[in-house]
Amino acid sequence: MPDTSANARPLLEARNVVKHFPIRGGVFMKQTAAVKAVDGVSLAIRGGETLGLVGESGCGKTTFGRVILRLEEPTSGDVLFQGLSILGYSKHDMQALRREMQIIFQDPFSSLNPRKTVSHIVGEPLLVHGVKSRREREARVLELLEVVGLRREHMRRYPHQFSGGQRQRIGVARALALKPKLIVCDEAVSALDVSIQAQVINLLKDLQSEFGLTYLFISHDLSVVEHVSDRVAVMYLGKIVEIAPSRDLYREPLHPYSQALLSAVPVPDPSLQRPGRIILKGDVPSPIDPPTGCRFHPRCHYAEGLCSEREPPLSEVREHHWAACHFAGRAGLP
Ligand code: SF4
Repeated sequence: MPDTSANARPLLEARNVVKHFPIRGGVFMKQTAAVKAVDGVSLAIRGGETLGLVGESGCGKTTFGRVILRLEEPTSGDVLFQGLSILGYSKHDMQALRREMQIIFQDPFSSLNPRKTVSHIVGEPLLVHGVKSRREREARVLELLEVVGLRREHMRRYPHQFSGGQRQRIGVARALALKPKLIVCDEAVSALDVSIQAQVINLLKDLQSEFGLTYLFISHDLSVVEHVSDRVAVMYLGKIVEIAPSRDLYREPLHPYSQALLSAVPVPDPSLQRPGRIILKGDVPSPIDPPTGCRFHPRCHYAEGLCSEREPPLSEVREHHWAACHFAGRAGLP
């Protein structure tokens, strides 16, 4: 597995993770094909960092986030948390591990039970994990609400009585309840207005400094990811095509797909304007039958014969800057 973790001891490691969803048909519901949502992803996240995971919708990033939390079982590969493989863990072991690994979902409304009060929603993980005393739970819930900027009177209210930003704060409080080490933020601010996005992002950053949290920050929004991430991984059709420290990737993307994605991101300072917008050819191919060789070749402006024949490995082109392109960093590619 390539060590893309910038050489620090990882909190979480994914080793060649594959997740295929079978498609069944016919009288006997035999498997006729498979959606190759995640197709051999290896990466490592070190403690205390934020790794951004970006790509167009349908590229497999959400599935990957769910697999590393074992909300989906991988088809093959391995996931290690603090150096130990978690795929063999029993249901009981996984329940204990869930204290350490939490998720914040995109839609703060549908992820909160509308019939439960905030006190119940935030306190539920505590109850599941053995905090039986109601008084103890309520004290902890109050503490958590204060941490995310909500107040005591919010405890007895229901989700529909809050704004979108406040609901996401409730989701953050719930994720923090068990003092996790790793939080997967799955499009956690995508449904919010820009001003509210900034508040929730600042909250996540403050909590990271205070509690030493580690984030996998999944988003299709490259501007947000640049703002929050220490490193960024770019995913295309189930594979990582580039991974690098955030500033390096945004300053000088090496993979043609990353270059195209970044060319569409507005830059606040016009003097730093990136080179012209790159319009990708065609649509994203089907993950049921991905292209041979480099999966990006039907849409790549620089594709040559080799690209459709041989899959480029993810290689360290510059220090800590990995790309899966036969020609990355060589003359001919900008
Ligand atoms: Fe483009 Fe070829 Fe590089 Fe793939 S390997 S990104 S097709 S130049």
